[in-house]
Amino acid sequence: MKWYKKLHWQIIIGMILGLFWGLFSGIVGLTDFTSSYVRPVGTIFIDLLKLIAVPLVIASLVVGVSSLNDMARLSRMGGKTVAIYMVTTVFAISIGLSVVNIMNPGGTLPDETRASLMESYSERVEGRDDAAAVVQDRNILEFFADIVPENFFEAAGDNTNMLQVVFVALLLGIGLINIPAQKGQVLINVFESLNDVIIKIVDLIMKTAPYGVFALMAAVIVDLTGDDLGQAMILLRALGWYCLAVVIGLLLHVLIVYSTLFKFFSKMKLRDFFKAIQPAILLGFSTSSSLATLPVTMERVERNLGVGEEVSSFVLPVGATINMDGTSLYQAIAAVFIAQALGMDLTLAQQVTIVLTATAASIGAAGVPGAGIIMLVIVLQSVQVPIEGIALILGVDRILDMARTAVNVTGDAAVSVAVAHTEGKLGALHFDEEV
Ligand code: ASP
Repeated sequence: MKWYKKLHWQIIIGMILGLFWGLFSGIVGLTDFTSSYVRPVGTIFIDLLKLIAVPLVIASLVVGVSSLNDMARLSRMGGKTVAIYMVTTVFAISIGLSVVNIMNPGGTLPDETRASLMESYSERVEGRDDAAAVVQDRNILEFFADIVPENFFEAAGDNTNMLQVVFVALLLGIGLINIPAQKGQVLINVFESLNDVIIKIVDLIMKTAPYGVFALMAAVIVDLTGDDLGQAMILLRALGWYCLAVVIGLLLHVLIVYSTLFKFFSKMKLRDFFKAIQPAILLGFSTSSSLATLPVTMERVERNLGVGEEVSSFVLPVGATINMDGTSLYQAIAAVFIAQALGMDLTLAQQVTIVLTATAASIGAAGVPGAGIIMLVIVLQSVQVPIEGIALILGVDRILDMARTAVNVTGDAAVSVAVAHTEGKLGALHFDEEV
């Protein structure tokens, strides 16, 4: 097969063409056209993926949990999964804090740029603090109480309530383990075939990915630059250091933490791992949603990394909901950057507070675009940094959202390899041409 016919290359080509189209429409004044006629193609693509997220999480978790056969196995694997997720998150935040303290990107922001950014974006910050306040005002028990929905359909009706959906699916799986096998078989068969159908639908949707990604990319660029390319460039340059710090942090995290994870828990090479899950990473990057990427992550992890279905169908949906290494790392850098830009020095105790709150904030963030910056409010408030400072970074957030989502997706896949290895469910690597 010719290289350009392979899906991951087509996605990359779509992304690059989308970027050029976005810039071109800014130059020739076609931004309205791009917003009205190109953006919807991207919206349809991402909505299709989101549409299947809730049924996929339910079907795969029910199948995954019920295939574990007994409660002891479930709690062993569950404990292991959550523990590895938490450890990688704490490492991510620590790397973020180290990078931002060393690079000091906030110190480089010119005063006028800071003032004009704060002024022009401050209305856009409004509303974000309300959303985060709802989360922040809860104590730990109330947080757990919120995981239990009073009505399943209400929970399943909103993609941001994924933790509740995961809870119901786990409960259903646990119920199935605890009734006689022949009685539960009918229901298991239903969920198994639902699972297969969803995977097929994903295959179909992915055939349109290059077009969807083109449109998403063009829309991002148009939003970012509008008609005033020059102004956008000045802002981008001023915030360049901050973006660079986030990107360096994310790269260090992937290179150090995931390769160490593989050293301890499997003999997989980082290069092979990336080769196998490339389309999932690219999709995470272009959709900015780990939830929308979940179907492809699952398919790649099972088919190409050799992770057993009973592991992937448990570890990945849970990961897409609670494990966000990229988001937590970004939140740590953003919080310190804003403090630096506003001339505030954060003490060591405040930076430790960031580790705790960014862990919680990344668990609470939904796997949808922009969730991380909403939860950033909690991190800022915990260290008394004014939340209006978010205005400084709002303009470049979409790009960083793409990068951190790619890392979120990578982290889930890496942990699934580790858990599968410890459970004796890691098969051989397999590379194929198509998704
Ligand atoms: N977009 C990210 C995700 O879906 C969450 C975030 O905004 O950081 O994984």
